[in-house]
Amino acid sequence: MFENDAAEFQAYLNDLHRQHQSLTSGRVADYIPELAKANPDWFSICVATVDGQVFTTGDADQLFTIQSISKVFVQGLALEDHGRDYFLTRVGVEPTGDAFNSIVLDEQSKRPYNPMVNAGAIATTSLIKGDSPTDRLNRMLDMFRRYIGHDIFVDISTFTSERTTGNRNRAMAYLMYNFGMIDARIEEALDLYFQQCSIMVDCRDLAVMAATLANRGINPITRERAVAPNYIRDILSVMYTCGMYNFAGEWAYKIGLPAKSGVSGGIIVVVPDQIGIAIFSPLLDPRGNSVRGVKVCEAISEYFDLHLFDSSMGCRTFLQRLSHPTR
Ligand code: GLN
Repeated sequence: MFENDAAEFQAYLNDLHRQHQSLTSGRVADYIPELAKANPDWFSICVATVDGQVFTTGDADQLFTIQSISKVFVQGLALEDHGRDYFLTRVGVEPTGDAFNSIVLDEQSKRPYNPMVNAGAIATTSLIKGDSPTDRLNRMLDMFRRYIGHDIFVDISTFTSERTTGNRNRAMAYLMYNFGMIDARIEEALDLYFQQCSIMVDCRDLAVMAATLANRGINPITRERAVAPNYIRDILSVMYTCGMYNFAGEWAYKIGLPAKSGVSGGIIVVVPDQIGIAIFSPLLDPRGNSVRGVKVCEAISEYFDLHLFDSSMGCRTFLQRLSHPTR
């Protein structure tokens, strides 16, 4: 078995990258030209530890739009702005077997099912506080900056394309407005949602963001707090049950870790108190998850026994083994 010192862990990641590079099934998202331009060969696996080590492979600094992975972090900001009780009156936490863009609300409560499907994410974004649209955008950008550790920007052409083609999202927003689940500033909430999806990140950034969640909300590189620690459990439980679209149940069963994927090919995975894992590969399966990303996560989870309910090695000892090669 693996004697995990840092060099050996890097070699393990390099091998994993090499082994999965040959997987070329799946399709790049093409609902807007900016995503269709993605190179199907792009591939990176990055891991950041809660004590600030970062391991990278492949195209770790290739920029891409964060897309649905943003939903996780905006949920944290909305919780900070309103508290758990109010948040739950607007957005549920129930998984749905439906696709991420389904236009279905809970029949009784009229709430969107959870903050990871588009309807729930739009309702969540509409809760972000601020004095003006610019103020709300800036608060959101500042929140992402704290997780990533450096300034970030919104890709204007992706944002414009999302806005011009986003009529399905617009329909969901109007439906929620009809039921009093979001307020009248519909176009503004949608703009903010399209902007959050269009934030540029690279795979290394995503690993640090995931490690910040693993580290109870403190960025392990900058040591800055990104989110209040009491909302980490809200975020991770929703990621665990709803993060992988309509593959979430199988993911929880097989891989057993909170995760979130996005249509540009990113996946983040959180091993609480240990590491954040990020994979970037734009080839997607029919549910919208990165094909290589899912396979790589299966491999890592199995290799290190990271499934939350299976701990023959135990995820708690992972970091110890990384920093003490002789164990
Ligand atoms: N911008 C996309 C949308 O709202 C995000 C989709 C995704 O990553 N699943 O449709």
